[in-house]
Parts: sequence; structure tokens; C-alpha cells
Amino acid sequence: MPSTTATCLCKKVSIKCEEINTNIGACHCSTCQTWGGGAYLSVEAGTNVTVQGAEHVTAYDSSEWAERGFCNKCGTHLFYKLKGTQQYMLSAGLFPDADVKAFKFDHQIFIEEKPEFYSFANKTQNMTGAEVFAKHAE
Ligand SMILES: [Zn+2]
Ligand SMILES: [Zn+2]
Repeated sequence: MPSTTATCLCKKVSIKCEEINTNIGACHCSTCQTWGGGAYLSVEAGTNVTVQGAEHVTAYDSSEWAERGFCNKCGTHLFYKLKGTQQYMLSAGLFPDADVKAFKFDHQIFIEEKPEFYSFANKTQNMTGAEVFAKHAE
């Protein structure tokens, strides 16, 4: 997909991505549940990302390996970012409609932490947290 821009609710922050992966993932881990009130639907954007309005971005250090960015004006959850590789996962809801049409929801992680009260009907590849860590340790 050509470059695209993710924008928060108040539009003070826009994040230009040169390249995104249109395969959407959901994370059901307890940190995501607390952060966003439910599963986190995200888009892998790699490292080729330019943040405009960076003065409105606050990053919360959510674990040893990652931080979570939000707009300090409107509260929109912007990204999950790996500290080591500086790789961005952006919230799927921030992208323009034209891009969202190309999104395909195909994987779910930390499936063992998903609360019982919901489940997605999409056919996806599901991984536990342990499987995710094992995959990234390769
Ligand atoms: Zn905002
Ligand atoms: Zn999570």
C-alpha cells in the first residue's frame, strides 16, 4: 500500500506511514484491555514513520520492551512501539476509510487472555502470549 496517514480525533497528531501491513491483528492481553477497554486492533507500520504534532504525543512506558503513545489533547490511543526495533503498531481506527477497505483481520494474539464475554467471528490465526514470545525469539 502507498503511504498513508493515521490521524487522531482532534487532528493535532498525524502519523505518516510510508508502508503498512494491511493484515490487521487483535491483541487480547490484559495490558491492552486496560489501556483501551478491550482488544487492541492494530496495523504494523514498521519503522518508516513520521510523527507530526509530536509535542501532543505522550508515551507511556508499558513494559520493558514497549511503550504506548496517546494524544495528550484528545486521548486517542495512537500506537504501541517496540523499544528495541522502534517498530510501530498503530491503532487500526486511525486510518482513512479508503485504506480501511483494504484491511484484512487475520490474526489474534494473547488469545488466552481474551475475556469470555466476546469473541470475533473472523477466521484468524490465533496465538497465545507464549507462542508470540517464542516466535519473536527466533
Ligand atoms: Zn488528538
Ligand atoms: Zn496486548
